[in-house]
Amino acid sequence: METVAPSAVIVAIDGPSGTGKSSTSKAVAAKLGLRYLDTGAQYRAITWWMITNGVDTADAQAVAIAAAKPVIVSGTDPSAPTITVDGLDASGPIRTQEVTSKVSAVSAVPEVRTLITELQRSIAARAAEEAEGIVVEGRDIGTTVLPAADLKIFLTASAEARAARRSGELRGKEASDLAATKQALLQRDAADSGRKTSPLAMAGDAVEVDTTELTLDQVIECVVTLVEEKMAGRK
Ligand code: C5P
Repeated sequence: METVAPSAVIVAIDGPSGTGKSSTSKAVAAKLGLRYLDTGAQYRAITWWMITNGVDTADAQAVAIAAAKPVIVSGTDPSAPTITVDGLDASGPIRTQEVTSKVSAVSAVPEVRTLITELQRSIAARAAEEAEGIVVEGRDIGTTVLPAADLKIFLTASAEARAARRSGELRGKEASDLAATKQALLQRDAADSGRKTSPLAMAGDAVEVDTTELTLDQVIECVVTLVEEKMAGRK
């Protein structure tokens, strides 16, 4: 049984890539004194481990057999989140193109999801005991990982806006890369939404925020207000 401090707040922020989940979640957690967990980084970390240890990421059975081997540790300070695999800093390597192109296949393996989901729940439970709460961002947080979260947000944006944001992050890229970025992003969304085990989906009780026409500051303000309203309503 989880022991949750009565005042602790658990916020789930889900949505596809390029909707501003990470920037929003970090900023909201920092503003409200909450912890922060990037669950995508954990799936990227296990994918990186598979690649560096010679496991064929397209072979679901091989991935399932190796899934319990890497030790993944997430640091939950929103101003300096960290991720290590077997004690090694993985924050850089998990952002490579190779990891990005292989992470959807690895994260679709049920054994991987079971292990990572347990890890995520234990981190959230600890944050609820030791801190004011946590903002957890991902794809299936509101539906599967933390279905009893106090507040569930589902961020969306048009594919064009998401691709433009992503290519903006990849410094020095040509405009022609925009089409390729959009294509890769849509492919990853389709894989994440179409998998059998806990796909990317909006929880029935989530608040949908379309960020297409909003600046990052506006999205942050909107989510902070929603969390504050929730916290005030619980007092
Ligand atoms: O958020 P980010 O783009 O870093 O996530 C990388 C990948 O991790 C996603 O494309 C998805 O395959 C997987 N993921 C997931 N469930 C989550 C978070 C991420 O399957 N809760």
